[in-house]
Amino acid sequence: MPTHKQPPQDHYIVEASWILGYQKGQLVLLPDASMRVQGDRIAAVQPGKIEGDLPRLKLKGHLVVPGFINGHTHVASGTATRGIIEGGRSYSRPLKIMETLSDEELDDLTAFNLAEILKSGCTTQIEMSLSLRQAEAYVRVAEKWGVRGYPGGMIPGTGRLDKVWFRKDDKALFDSVPDTLAEIAANLEFGRRAMNAGNGRIRPMIAPHATDTHTEETMKALVAASRELGTGIHIHLSQGAMETAAVRRLWGGLSPTQWLEKMGAFEGPLFGAHMSALDWSTDPQILVRHGAVYAHCPSAGGAGGHTQPYPEALGAGMQVNVAIDTHSNDYLENMKLAVIGGRARARLMADRGLPVKIPTMWTAMGGATLVPAKALGRDDIGRIAPGAKADFASIDVSGFLVGAGAPPPEPLNNLLYATGAAVRHVATDGRFQVFDGTLMVDDEKAVYRRGGVVVKKIWKQLQKEGWFTPTPH
Ligand SMILES: [Zn+2]
Repeated sequence: MPTHKQPPQDHYIVEASWILGYQKGQLVLLPDASMRVQGDRIAAVQPGKIEGDLPRLKLKGHLVVPGFINGHTHVASGTATRGIIEGGRSYSRPLKIMETLSDEELDDLTAFNLAEILKSGCTTQIEMSLSLRQAEAYVRVAEKWGVRGYPGGMIPGTGRLDKVWFRKDDKALFDSVPDTLAEIAANLEFGRRAMNAGNGRIRPMIAPHATDTHTEETMKALVAASRELGTGIHIHLSQGAMETAAVRRLWGGLSPTQWLEKMGAFEGPLFGAHMSALDWSTDPQILVRHGAVYAHCPSAGGAGGHTQPYPEALGAGMQVNVAIDTHSNDYLENMKLAVIGGRARARLMADRGLPVKIPTMWTAMGGATLVPAKALGRDDIGRIAPGAKADFASIDVSGFLVGAGAPPPEPLNNLLYATGAAVRHVATDGRFQVFDGTLMVDDEKAVYRRGGVVVKKIWKQLQKEGWFTPTPH
């Protein structure tokens, strides 16, 4: 139970039954441990108590973990599609309706979804907003709340995407080049403007939609823009057979990953989501060589959808992050889904001729923290260590449904029974954004109410268009 009604600030001590610390390049569990936070940094971490009169937050029964780093989100779109696409409908129409929302409505939708993401322990998002306007909304909310993020507008954005992605022939792709170049320029301008906003927490990134919606000319422009911003590339990579076929057809038989390498896209960090249709004979070596990250999204396409190649990617030695994508904003739940789905898939894949590694909660935890931090070139996030940014979350691993009424001996195993509802406190740069499960950086009830008003508007439009009928079962 927390000992404070209000969160401590500026300079304080956190005591917990467990701290997931960092020693010699690895995550390590420290029992009955303490950390001292000073300003935006962790000043000390040690087993046992830290003496002194500083304000002290006692978290008996909690596990304190580094703030999670999510390698692939579309923040505003979560609740705009959740609960209405799982029966098999396309998310395309709700996303198109989002394009008609005002900036204020986009901010309200962003705030609701970002509140959920924060409440589940995720302090850093690598954010592919579905339009530049949504990226602007993300920055407004994230800056106000002190969230850390690498935002970029998806290129092409939702408004132009279908025409290029679901084209009848490649002429539509080549015809799209001037408009896509204009979008790249607009996103670069946004990147320059927003770079290091929020005390350096906001670092825009270039976010091409995928390899099959770009030409050599636009990919060159994307790589040049990303070189200028210096933060890398965030892309959907090898999402399916259609993408691989298009890239092979257009660019001399290369796989999407081979083509990206040829175009210089791996110069900086690269986060690629999904990777369902990698060529396992050629692509993993390239991704490993460049330290690219596979952003594995276990609830992509809506919870209960298909599984993705997490165990194969681990088996190939790739760097794998756990990511949210859309629909579920519960980071802890997605870690759990990655492990549970990954273990099932590893067993089913065992005799398919590819090396597989069975993931554990430790694998997912590394993928949520050290893996993305390293790829971003950040040795100051994704770890609880002296000198690191004070980005952390505490999870009640002793309570009903998750624990056993006492601090557990192997707390990461208890996370297999947890969801974001077990996350109690979340801080970024030492500032508590969630305290005792409540959003502290805004009026939580207003965020909830205003987010609801916007989705009701989207549902009403869908109803008018007959989108909900027939109802799939
Ligand atoms: Zn995505």
